[in-house]
Amino acid sequence: MPQSIVSSAPLSLPFTSRACAHVTASLRRRTKVNGSTCYVMQCDNCGSQVGEEIAKSAPVIMALAAYPPEWDRELAERYWEETFEDGRERWEIAAAERAQEAADWWARYDAYLESDQWQRLRARRLALDHWQCQAMMNGCDGRAVQVHHLRYRYVFDEPLFDLASVCLSCHRKLHAARPETIPSEAPR
Ligand SMILES: [Zn+2]
Ligand SMILES: [Zn+2]
Ligand SMILES: [Zn+2]
Repeated sequence: MPQSIVSSAPLSLPFTSRACAHVTASLRRRTKVNGSTCYVMQCDNCGSQVGEEIAKSAPVIMALAAYPPEWDRELAERYWEETFEDGRERWEIAAAERAQEAADWWARYDAYLESDQWQRLRARRLALDHWQCQAMMNGCDGRAVQVHHLRYRYVFDEPLFDLASVCLSCHRKLHAARPETIPSEAPR
């Protein structure tokens, strides 16, 4: 797959957009692992602890007429379950869109390789390179029969210097790391 498609794909971070702003929070009594209790603020929406532990000697605690309610464990669990479901759904939609985008691109590219515009361009490149392979890797047979894209950035309106004439053997090697691109650049 061409680099340009990979880098233009939207980077989706499914969970960030639902990060809670902790708009309101309530005082809770929380039991620590060691069994002692402490006082904290718990976000009413996501169930996270907001801020530091509140000292037992703090005026807000001293003024309490009764124990504040217990830390709500289920609140946080529910929130993260919902967030995960929602995030996964959006991630799947984004992945499907990226796959469609790539499929559309390949369809357009395949059609482009059949166009007069491309045929003229590749003939010009081959003539400029005197039909000599510009790669000359091990096993090169020297005779250029295909034109390789050095980059795909300007594909559909490439500058000549983004192209290089190559022999079959070198072209195969150049695409060895991306074998899925070979069918689209079969000899023409
Ligand atoms: Zn929150
Ligand atoms: Zn070659
Ligand atoms: Zn190529």
